[in-house]
Amino acid sequence: MSSPYRASKSHDGHTYTRKDGLIGGLHTYAVIEPERKVRHSGDNNIWEAIVIGSGYAGLVAARDLVKAGKKTLLLEARDRIGGRTWSAEVEGTTYEMGGTWVSHVHARLFAEMQRYGLKDAVSMTRTENGGCSYFTIDTGSGSRKLSLQEAGEMTTRAWKIFINIDGNYGRDICPLPYSTLGNSRVPFEKVQAVDRLSCRDRIEQIKHQLTADELALIESLVPHCAGGSAENVGFLEMLRSQALQGYSPENFDDVWTCYKIRDGQSALARCIFDDAVRLGLEYSFKTPIKSIVNRDNKVSVTSTSGSTYHARRVVNTIPIAVLPTIQFDPPLSPLRQEAIRINQVDYLTKIHAEVEGDLRGLRGCTWPGDFLYIYGDGFCAGGKSTRITSFAGDNRGILDPLKNPERLETALQRFHPMNIKKVVFHDWVSDPYAKAGAAWYPANYLTKYLAELQSRHGNVLMASADWASGWRSFIEGAMEQGALAADTVLNEVGVLGANTESHPRL
Ligand SMILES: Cc1cc2nc3c(=O)[nH]c(=O)nc-3n(C[C@H](O)[C@H](O)[C@H](O)COP(=O)(O)OP(=O)(O)OC[C@H]3O[C@@H](n4cnc5c(N)ncnc54)[C@H](O)[C@@H]3O)c2cc1C
Repeated sequence: MSSPYRASKSHDGHTYTRKDGLIGGLHTYAVIEPERKVRHSGDNNIWEAIVIGSGYAGLVAARDLVKAGKKTLLLEARDRIGGRTWSAEVEGTTYEMGGTWVSHVHARLFAEMQRYGLKDAVSMTRTENGGCSYFTIDTGSGSRKLSLQEAGEMTTRAWKIFINIDGNYGRDICPLPYSTLGNSRVPFEKVQAVDRLSCRDRIEQIKHQLTADELALIESLVPHCAGGSAENVGFLEMLRSQALQGYSPENFDDVWTCYKIRDGQSALARCIFDDAVRLGLEYSFKTPIKSIVNRDNKVSVTSTSGSTYHARRVVNTIPIAVLPTIQFDPPLSPLRQEAIRINQVDYLTKIHAEVEGDLRGLRGCTWPGDFLYIYGDGFCAGGKSTRITSFAGDNRGILDPLKNPERLETALQRFHPMNIKKVVFHDWVSDPYAKAGAAWYPANYLTKYLAELQSRHGNVLMASADWASGWRSFIEGAMEQGALAADTVLNEVGVLGANTESHPRL
């Protein structure tokens, strides 16, 4: 079954070929046309809720609010929905530009796929026995090939040593991973002590137990997962992700890098958006917000073009790295401002390529280098070329894909000789509405700032995957936050359920 949507050209994303150079703008189902549907406006109009941002947090919040009959306006800076999760259609092939992989341990995400009939509309990144089915390891002592099983076993052994800080593979420090700050097994001070460690600190503790290759695998897996460096990624975040995947590194591939929505993430995002519009959602795209003023039980939101919209409650889903561009009145608390100033550390690069022939089984790790990990990712349309997905950590100041796109090709060749037809990517770091990747934090951050980031700012609910309780920095976390914020708004502006005598409170 092919997607019912028509792909239109977005401002976002790039292709690079030697012949045509860098070309901006990719086609996607995520572009919304026409860009504006606002029937209620004017200074006297007060929305029950305004949702800022149409990533998954904003989409779920907006859908839940209109479903409960609330007069809701969605404001989005881009020309498309999805935020840091969107898929592009390039000559018949779907490329995931940001958030990609899904899994059934992501319960809210699964529920959304199920609700919109997509629960079995899944494809796999991994192709058993696809062409070039081996793992290239190039970590300082020359390049060599391992079987996928050998590479998996080596990674698992090293990761278990890395993660086993409590002698119980994280079960004591992170017994219920949705509660980083609540722990019924050990005193909070023990969690704080682990939070003080960076991944580099932890590597220093255990490196004598690792071979040179194992050490390189850990040093490269940290930036692969978290987009930062071993120095600036907090170890507690790694421990939490280990807990979330069932305390077992064997689950990493299946949970993190295996299953995708067949028609692309933008197909699911469209289902949620279209559902909300059918239920009465009004919206304005290409509407960047510059200020949020919260006074007299009314929140006023002003765009960069000077339009102001008023609401009882605002659900703000703007990512942490972008928050410094927004003026809040009254100002955010000093603690939240400090957290935003320190910021997250994920500046990963994700690059796709279309390469000639069958490389569907390809896997590999190069470290150190421009790229860290590579995945053969199924055939492109037509079945004669392969889609390749590759990740770099924080390459700022080293490899800028917009300034040196030709260097992307050289980096890919280090994994395997390949005839590259085109490179496809979204540069999240230079994107003004993301400014970074998914959110990972440095040492000494979570125990100090997480609760503050999650707290509301007067009548502004702050909802983002960046500070989710569970799958923070995942699609699942965005959905958690959007649903929670919508629930809070509904509790406050009132839901007229059946058999209730309560009246809406504003
Ligand atoms: C390269 C990459 C790979 C990833 N891989 C995975 C994966 O495989 N699986 C997974 O589960 N997760 C993955 N993630 C994480 C996931 O994509 C994010 O956690 C999730 O999409 C964040 O959703 P959100 O709604 O909280 O934020 P966003 O999606 O960032 O939504 C925020 C919205 O606010 C808008 N906005 C920003 N500023 C303004 C403004 N001033 N005015 C109006 N609107 C504004 C933005 O345009 C955006 O649409 C990945 C992320 C990246 C970048």
